Amino acid sequence: MRLGLLRPHLSRLGSEGRSCSMYTLANSDKPALVIGVRQHQSEESFTLTSTGEKINNLCNGEISARLCQTGSILKAGASRLLGSVHPDYGPVVAVGLGKHNDTLNTEENIDLNREAVRGAAAAGIRAVKQLGLKCGQVESFDDSEAAAEGATMANWSFTKFKAEKDPLPSLLPLDESAEWNRGCLLGGAQNLARELMEFPANHLTPRLFAEQVINQMQGLPVEIIVRDEAWAESMKMGSFMSVAAGSAEPLRFLEMSYKGGDKDTPPVVLVGKGVTFDTGGISLKPSSKMDKMRADMGGAATVTATLKAVAELALPVNMVVLVPLTENMPGGKATKPGDVVTAMNGKTIQIDNTDAEGRLILADALTYADSFNPRLVMDVATLTGAISVALGTAATGAYATSTQDFKVLEAAGCATGDRVWRMPLWNHYTKLMKKSPLADLNNISLSPGGGSCTAAAFLKEFTTSKNWLHLDIAGVMENEGAVPYLGGGMSGRPTRTMIKFVETI
Ligand SMILES: [Zn+2]
Repeated sequence: MRLGLLRPHLSRLGSEGRSCSMYTLANSDKPALVIGVRQHQSEESFTLTSTGEKINNLCNGEISARLCQTGSILKAGASRLLGSVHPDYGPVVAVGLGKHNDTLNTEENIDLNREAVRGAAAAGIRAVKQLGLKCGQVESFDDSEAAAEGATMANWSFTKFKAEKDPLPSLLPLDESAEWNRGCLLGGAQNLARELMEFPANHLTPRLFAEQVINQMQGLPVEIIVRDEAWAESMKMGSFMSVAAGSAEPLRFLEMSYKGGDKDTPPVVLVGKGVTFDTGGISLKPSSKMDKMRADMGGAATVTATLKAVAELALPVNMVVLVPLTENMPGGKATKPGDVVTAMNGKTIQIDNTDAEGRLILADALTYADSFNPRLVMDVATLTGAISVALGTAATGAYATSTQDFKVLEAAGCATGDRVWRMPLWNHYTKLMKKSPLADLNNISLSPGGGSCTAAAFLKEFTTSKNWLHLDIAGVMENEGAVPYLGGGMSGRPTRTMIKFVETI
């Protein structure tokens, strides 16, 4: 049904982004119903989703009547309380889906309809919370998976260290389905990455991160080996160890494997940067916002969350996940600018800036990754501020030696709404990293500019894998409102894109 809007005296009662209404919370002992409204191209009319239409029919058109009475169009991501419309149901919260897009916008390269569903589901469950209701029943908006993702990610907060918890409503589907459950699992995976990133560094040292991962993987077919300093030493991981040298906390190296595919299929290897706190080392960072560096293990968090989801979904793939874990501290034994270390592959590195430490720990992890004879290697790291300058929070910077692999990753980002953008892996940048007066490589470029590209060029020197991808996620580490279904704080991006990539590669 397509309905025109009245333009009555009540129009000012419509709300954008918050719930206020002339209707009451009668029947609030029952779960609140979150129902979607699509704006028509004309702007002056709207349609309900197929589920909304069914319930509208049950209550003799009361939902559409109240939408008309409350006036102004419900824009994408806005919500409005419509009160109780049927004795069997709790209060109805209408949410806006915006206009429907008939085709995929290839320039934007994002599925805007799915994003609208995530945003609407998020707005719905947030309204349920604001109204103080205990339970929200969210409809599918004709895309159960996206609805469950949006609602699950919006219905999350990190209050572990607060006496006063943030009471979240329980979230239920209006129609449970495999797609809904899958969406909850995917949103839950991103929430796990967010939680690990939010954890204060004194509660998530390398040793405690390993313990957390063991707890998280309990009951799943994931084998976990926690390596220590003696192992790193025996592997001649001089680059990795040079970062841990300044900290009183011992390093750890996690090696996790999941075998869902045929025995002989080469594994997909993911490598996550696990700097549990980054002071910058002797090249000390400014103190302003240094607390955010608790999330400098975002790569470790997202690869761990990806592995957990892959195991829960029982995907038919073989996977190895490697996580070098360390603090970067300016202790008495810390690496000094100008020091030269030897990496596992024998290359020497002049460390001119101890704050460019992510690449040092990844270098040895990438060399080690090659020993698994992988199908592909993808490392994920909050690596450079430069990627934030280049892309802002819009997308993860992605580097790939294989265009085919990149295309799969790009399509994954289009479907999940968490996009990647390809950056260059040119010799131009490699040359800049080979100008060290003392060693084979310098850990920073001595020429300004292109900081994310030179970091990627550095990493390329430590992998022999034909199919290598590198994700610089420093720009998407935190959410400050850019993604409507995530609250503020650490984002856990791009976990869902990584899961989709592993599933489809
Ligand atoms: Zn750093």
